Amino acid sequence: MNEHFPTNEELLHFPNLQYEKFKYYRRARELAEKGEDFFETLQLSARCELLHFVQTGIKHVIICGCSEIHKGCARMNGKKMTVLQALKKLPIPKRNCGNHLFHESGKGFCVGSYEYDTNTEYESLT
Ligand SMILES: [Zn+2]
Repeated sequence: MNEHFPTNEELLHFPNLQYEKFKYYRRARELAEKGEDFFETLQLSARCELLHFVQTGIKHVIICGCSEIHKGCARMNGKKMTVLQALKKLPIPKRNCGNHLFHESGKGFCVGSYEYDTNTEYESLT
């Protein structure tokens, strides 16, 4: 049960965080399907995504919440923040988000994500 969740510092040394992101996302889905606690694994997947942005020099992100029909994280849709703020607060995935997969055991499985903000990148070049 005491699975080791790598720290941000450890993850920054991984050469392919996009791969790690999908690996942990898939693992979180498997846990949800079995009715086990998946939230920390889902957070780990989000951290991999944000740290991939850090590796590639992206500074700002926009939150893409789950579908509007779910009350959970949809209200954060379009919110902008720095990658470092997002890593610190980790607003996505939202615990107990209204989204759920396949059946009740997948309840709270937030599929919100982060997009990098190109506009801010352009501004910073001027
Ligand atoms: Zn959500």
